[in-house]
Amino acid sequence: MQTARIPISDLKKPRATPKGRQIAPQVRAEIVGLLGEKPRDRQYLIEYLHLIQDANGHISADHIAALAQALKLSQVEVYEVATFYHHFDVLRDGDAAPPAHTVRICASIACAIAGGQLLFEDLKNSCGADVRVMHAPCVGQCDHAPMAVVDQVQIKTATPQKIAQALTLPRASESTSSSIPAAQISVPEGAFSAFKNFAEGGLPLAQLIATMKDANLRGLGGAGFAAGRKWEIVRSFEGPRAMVVNADEGEPGTFKDRYYLERNPWQFWEGVLIAAWAVEAQTVYVYLRDEYHDLRRAMEAQLTALQMHFPALAASPYRLPQIEMRRGAGAYICGEESALIESVEGKRGIPRLRPPYIAQAGVFGQPTLAHNVETLYWIPEILRKGAAWWRGQGRNGRNGLRSYSVSGRVKTPGVKLAPAGISLHELIDEFCDGMLAGHSLYAYLPGGASGGILPASLANVPLDFDTLQAHDAFIGSAAIVVLSQRDRVRDAALNLMQFFEHESCGQCTPCRVGTRKAAVLMAQENWDEKLLSELSQTMIDASICGLGQAAPNPLLTAMKYFPQEFAR
Ligand code: SF4
Repeated sequence: MQTARIPISDLKKPRATPKGRQIAPQVRAEIVGLLGEKPRDRQYLIEYLHLIQDANGHISADHIAALAQALKLSQVEVYEVATFYHHFDVLRDGDAAPPAHTVRICASIACAIAGGQLLFEDLKNSCGADVRVMHAPCVGQCDHAPMAVVDQVQIKTATPQKIAQALTLPRASESTSSSIPAAQISVPEGAFSAFKNFAEGGLPLAQLIATMKDANLRGLGGAGFAAGRKWEIVRSFEGPRAMVVNADEGEPGTFKDRYYLERNPWQFWEGVLIAAWAVEAQTVYVYLRDEYHDLRRAMEAQLTALQMHFPALAASPYRLPQIEMRRGAGAYICGEESALIESVEGKRGIPRLRPPYIAQAGVFGQPTLAHNVETLYWIPEILRKGAAWWRGQGRNGRNGLRSYSVSGRVKTPGVKLAPAGISLHELIDEFCDGMLAGHSLYAYLPGGASGGILPASLANVPLDFDTLQAHDAFIGSAAIVVLSQRDRVRDAALNLMQFFEHESCGQCTPCRVGTRKAAVLMAQENWDEKLLSELSQTMIDASICGLGQAAPNPLLTAMKYFPQEFAR
């Protein structure tokens, strides 16, 4: 039987509006105003989401739609990026806007043992409806625990009184967001002397690389890869090349990068120029964690001043690379170099599968050099003083210096520049004025959340790369958290697993589900050690990146070294 055919033209009536969510004219105008003359390029998506979040205190569905239209992206692409990062308050239709103020109480290990949870509960009960009280992962001030962040203002050794006072002040994002005039920033006399030396022809590239290899400067963000060798590898791939600076220090217990960026930024910038020159990077991206608001403003001004003064710094054919600051948005995983690169490109911070390694195909597909802040910081110093000076600094058979971020139950926590290979006993006695009164050493974390938990009986082991693996631990970024007889290691291990659960990017099942399952099992009074061991092995074997692979370390070392806490 034949049916009558309906002409297509009758079925397809012209639409009165474009497909998808309709954008209110005032929201479109708001986005146009916020973006101004800025490039409509998706690589700046996270920067533009920050503009909306800062201006409104949240990001609405209409904002998402208007920003997607401005950047010629699908709404779902903008939505998936916005919802990936913890610092964006993305509202769905019908959601109420968050309260006027947000107080974040750091829940990480150093703040937890300093009373952070009690402070959190106190504020939850006492703050009014216009204040939202939340937990936050490490905010990078572990030597001032417990830490709070009121809107964008960090409160050291926080108390309810200090927080109440901060809430009466104008919002930081409105009162202090103006940039620092670059003209007020002067480059100190004598700065950049190492850079000038080779930029003006005094030090050939081969000698520069040889000096780095001779010093054996290793990546101080945690991976420990030799800097000079890394330069050679990146240079072996055809340009154009790029460089990313990892200033995202999110490892709980780590705050050394901030320390150097605040105290001697020009030596850091000099290291940036030298490393960029060594691999002929045409573009440099400095990725700074979002929690460092004041630092970001200072660094933006320094960068502008550097660009203004650069011609006087280098009377040579060397051209300043294009240097851009990028603002993180609250994702620990972006400390992983390929996730950081995804974030620089304006995407979710999800680690890439390897190969290719980023030295071959990194940011925007270019061969990319990645360095941590502190690694860059030491490069000019080594060039000025020589490789032998650096090598001669170690102790207990190790070489070089390490910046140990020390927090927890010691008298004077802080960044301690000490010989690489120093033991915990020596570090506490010589650099931290001993333990806090009434506390005796019980355990310590040698490498932040990922590096495991060691007992006091191993406090004589040299703290350096390659010295702790035999004890199922590693030093990473040298974040030392000291625990005393008043702490329980099982509580610390649970705290760390909850952190990993919160920060897993969710890409692979062993990590996404494994961290959640482990946290549930560890919250029980009686740990199922057999099941936890099996789960840990699966995570170690099958996770894509270091987060999932290292997440079981605190749990496994807790069971290995502290059986007394699990006796039934
Ligand atoms: Fe993401 Fe965890 Fe997998 Fe790493 S191990 S890719 S953080 S889910």
